[in-house]
Amino acid sequence: MKEKILIVEDNPLHTRLIKMTLRAKGYTLLKATDGEEALDMATRERPSIIIMDIRLPKMNGLEVTMKLRKNPAFSHTLIIGVTAYAMKGDRERIIESGRDVYLSKPINTRELPEVITEMLSQRQKDNP
Ligand code: MN
Repeated sequence: MKEKILIVEDNPLHTRLIKMTLRAKGYTLLKATDGEEALDMATRERPSIIIMDIRLPKMNGLEVTMKLRKNPAFSHTLIIGVTAYAMKGDRERIIESGRDVYLSKPINTRELPEVITEMLSQRQKDNP
């Protein structure tokens, strides 16, 4: 099955970087550029993984995540929160809000695909 990954990011350069790191993996890559669009896309497309920037227009990534987590349809969705290391407190809030993984910006192009592969295989083990 082709896994769907939703990239939520308002900076087109970051979106492009993330896409480049995942291009060879054969995932279906979707994108949203603000929090409201992220909610709409997630509801419509049901991605396996959401790469979620925290600082977003309209609704921030933490709010989007909390809304998704309230919906049982998204209980198995893997969410990777992404924020600049300098944003103190974001990491704690991300973990509190039940997000699965946290990565700091700028994205490490080697780490991201590894984290995704790991999360997908872990999920397969948990839900065979
Ligand atoms: Mn941003």
